[in-house]
Amino acid sequence: MAMTDHVSDNIRSALLMLVPLAIAELAVVPLEMRREIAEEAGDIIAGKADQLMFASDNKPGVLGPMARGFAALAYQPGGVTALGLHACTEPHSECPCEERFPHHPVFGLVCEVKQ
Ligand SMILES: [Zn+2]
Repeated sequence: MAMTDHVSDNIRSALLMLVPLAIAELAVVPLEMRREIAEEAGDIIAGKADQLMFASDNKPGVLGPMARGFAALAYQPGGVTALGLHACTEPHSECPCEERFPHHPVFGLVCEVKQ
């Protein structure tokens, strides 16, 4: 169990840095393409997050796509909450990050949340 926690902590820390950058990158991606990325990512992040956590230990390449997926989902109304993180690009009701951090116009808002 400790190992699992350790791995997921590392991934969370990495995503905390990578997702804001991915949000900035996706700002120039057409809305339609961003939706496609969000749809794909939704399945992966919601359905296979645990496996990804393990797999990423051996395959660091998974972090990039995960960050990109998170970022795409952050553009949807209400943002996304998964893997102990919340990400959004616009202020919305009951945002778990907003009390602690302001929204950034380029990098959006990403914070850790209690699971
Ligand atoms: Zn939010």
